[in-house]
Amino acid sequence: MAPFSPASSDVLVIGGGPSGTALSAELAARGLDVQQLAPHPPRPFPATYGAWLGDLPAWARGCAEQVWTDVRAYTGPQPTSLGQPYALLDNAALLRTLRGRADWTWVEGAALHAERRGAGWIVYGVGGEHWQTRLVVDASGHGALVSPVRFPGGAALQTAYGLVARFRRPPVTPGSMVWMDYRTPAPELKRGEATFLYAMHLGGDRYFVEETSLIARPAPTRAELRRRLLARLSAQGTPPHATESEEWVAFPMNAQAPAPGGVLAYGAAAGRVHPVSGFQVAGALSDAPGVAAAIADALCHGGDAAAAGWAALWSPERRAAREVHLLGVGALLGLERAELPHFFGTFFGLPREQWARFLHPDTDAGTLARTMLRVFAQTGGRVRLPLARAALAQPAASGRALAAAAGLKI
Ligand SMILES: Cc1cc2nc3c(=O)[nH]c(=O)nc-3n(C[C@H](O)[C@H](O)[C@H](O)COP(=O)(O)OP(=O)(O)OC[C@H]3O[C@@H](n4cnc5c(N)ncnc54)[C@H](O)[C@@H]3O)c2cc1C
Repeated sequence: MAPFSPASSDVLVIGGGPSGTALSAELAARGLDVQQLAPHPPRPFPATYGAWLGDLPAWARGCAEQVWTDVRAYTGPQPTSLGQPYALLDNAALLRTLRGRADWTWVEGAALHAERRGAGWIVYGVGGEHWQTRLVVDASGHGALVSPVRFPGGAALQTAYGLVARFRRPPVTPGSMVWMDYRTPAPELKRGEATFLYAMHLGGDRYFVEETSLIARPAPTRAELRRRLLARLSAQGTPPHATESEEWVAFPMNAQAPAPGGVLAYGAAAGRVHPVSGFQVAGALSDAPGVAAAIADALCHGGDAAAAGWAALWSPERRAAREVHLLGVGALLGLERAELPHFFGTFFGLPREQWARFLHPDTDAGTLARTMLRVFAQTGGRVRLPLARAALAQPAASGRALAAAAGLKI
């Protein structure tokens, strides 16, 4: 057996994404000895991260590469103005800001598994290395290493295919951000899963355009979404003329609140992806100080740091909220594809503070359930029936959601 790594740490954070980096920064800022393990050196996070500006913690708003105030959704021929600013994150600035917060050690390597050893842990690496630590945090993303996250009925995925490209004619209104465009200018878009265009004007003739399937099981493939995106752009008379980069998105949306284990999970590995929007990054940045404080306090006073971290991340209120979100997922999965635009037409027709609270990373079960009841009351009959069916399929959870909506604790 190879010897232990001579350096042991208070916390070993597995993963070099936004979640692991945000938590490492907050742990190190509290004086803990932190090692962050990733198979790559520190480098700007590779995905295109968008977030509602107001959902980001105040410091992270300074890491926005661009902010749009003209934010639209098309659930029919006319746009709905969503009326709240949306940000594209500058991932290099985000990484720089997090790394500047405190000092900790970045270790290049990949974890294979973690084993309890006395009061602490040994993490084994793929290259035969060992790391000794008091607490392991798994922030290794959607394909998490140790994560206890489960997906009821199997994982339902968000998939999307996007391009950053130059256009001779603008594919969306210049200066705008299109959060959701369910229009179907090409016949191909009327077949198969209902997908929508998510797009940002990046300045000049540059745009980010992405064909997105919000949530499906099974989900459309990369080839299918690429075909649909190009058909949409071509039918609009706005094909890309020079492509700079491509993006493929695929991750599960329907995580149950996980049972706490000896390894703390964080970020996507902890099932914190919002089950209706797919957003996670703003929440991971906002949660890091509270989770780090709970861990630091437990390590300092001889408490159970993993349990403290789990309690801070997945409070009983958040567990109740996730149950309501999963009722929403059941409803979305049960809708006929053609009804999705109607559903979102009703959703975005609610007063802005109601739909915005629903999409916020940290909204209580009662508020979520009341919003769902409003959508149910205001939408058309063809949408209402599958929503009712989804609720009846989960009678106990639906009962708790109704009680939460009425402000009762059960
Ligand atoms: C292309 C794409 C676009 C997305 N866009 C958005 C968006 O606009 N807004 C939003 O809020 N969310 C978005 N998401 C959803 C989600 O928030 C992201 O997936 C986000 O990257 C999750 O952050 P994370 O740090 O938890 O995990 P990741 O970003 O997946 O990071 C995981 C890290 O762990 C490392 N790792 C993996 N295995 C090991 C191992 N065995 N040992 C050591 N390290 C390991 C990886 O190399 C990586 O550094 C997007 C997802 C994808 C895939």
